[in-house]
Amino acid sequence: MDKRSVFYILACLTGSILTACNPSSGSNKSGATPPTVQDRPTQHETINNAAAILAKTEVPILCYHRIEDGRKDDYTVSPALFEAQIRALADSGYHAILPDQLYGYLAHNETLPSKPVMITFDDSRVEHATIAAPVLEKYHFKGVFFIMTITYNKKNYMTKDQIAQLAKAGHTVALHTWDHTMVTKYKEAADWKKEVTDPKKGLESITGKPVDYLAYPYGIWNHQATEELNKQMKISFILISKRDSVYPLQTVRRMVAPAWTPQGLIKAMHKTFEKKS
Ligand SMILES: [Zn+2]
Repeated sequence: MDKRSVFYILACLTGSILTACNPSSGSNKSGATPPTVQDRPTQHETINNAAAILAKTEVPILCYHRIEDGRKDDYTVSPALFEAQIRALADSGYHAILPDQLYGYLAHNETLPSKPVMITFDDSRVEHATIAAPVLEKYHFKGVFFIMTITYNKKNYMTKDQIAQLAKAGHTVALHTWDHTMVTKYKEAADWKKEVTDPKKGLESITGKPVDYLAYPYGIWNHQATEELNKQMKISFILISKRDSVYPLQTVRRMVAPAWTPQGLIKAMHKTFEKKS
């Protein structure tokens, strides 16, 4: 390591020039990857740089939408199949982790339990509270529930009380924007406020807990959005697509859980998340 790198690290560690440690600033002619500090409004912490985060083994993350009988589409599993899939994960020794643990692992190299998996639910459907959460609890799992806040108390969607109850039971309540408009359509600061900042605060007041995680509507994102979300969220979740090279924490991949047999699901999960290199 050359003198310049040593100075860079010391400067970052002392926090005296935090802004100069931004991943986008400064060159790195030595070829070594310097540590970076991503500047967040409420906290200053030293976290792994983008290359280190991208190099980590991905944790398999499943994404469920509807859990009901009688529909045949890519976004629905029956209650019986859902339970069979969760039971198979439990029987195979998987441990369901939550976003705080994933963030600790990606940003700070904290250790995860063996065979980690994350089980997530999008769109604030009522069956997430009435069917999914009880099944998860039966198998001692916790889940992550991404709420679009326009649906509070609407038919077929969770009430505020149900959302609060999920948080109280130890699940993670997270944001799926206000009305599911894709982030690539936000044009000005007011759009971000309406779709992310205000609903985040609203959810926090319902749960009494911080809301630090978001799932992009339709999994659609662009670099500009990752930059904006990096100021407000610890992690944002996409679906299966290429990740952002500057803000990989804002593009963590999930796969839509298909209505396949439990063993088929576990196989697909491995194939999707195992390292290609
Ligand atoms: Zn959605």
